[in-house]
Amino acid sequence: NQFQMDTKGFNDLLDITPQVSSILNDSGLEEGSALVFVPGATAGITSIEYEPGLLKDYPEFFEKIVPSTVEYEHDKTWHDGNGFSHVRAALQGASFTVPFADSRLLLGTWQQIILVDFDNKGRSRNVIVQLTGI
Ligand code: ZN
Repeated sequence: NQFQMDTKGFNDLLDITPQVSSILNDSGLEEGSALVFVPGATAGITSIEYEPGLLKDYPEFFEKIVPSTVEYEHDKTWHDGNGFSHVRAALQGASFTVPFADSRLLLGTWQQIILVDFDNKGRSRNVIVQLTGI
């Protein structure tokens, strides 16, 4: 299963929990795990509490550890200016796995599944959800 998300880039954080839950509901599976993966070397999947403070804290954290204001070798290769996006995405990871039981994702109360787009422009992202279970 997969679905599309339009992003704004620049650490855009999108809650994709409803889409993943809906795919699980349609599957009829009761117990197992959901692998959520985003193809592309400048995006990632994680989980955070999706609230206004963290929506600022998380991008600011990446700005500190992988600044967008310094030069990256990648930019010399392609001149696309998104070296920082690639390094952030590598650090983030492209997938997230969540178990489910009784046909419900076993997320914490304040935990959502998040698509992060680190690229330096808006993108249309394909998100792949692979369910394994019974
Ligand atoms: Zn690039």
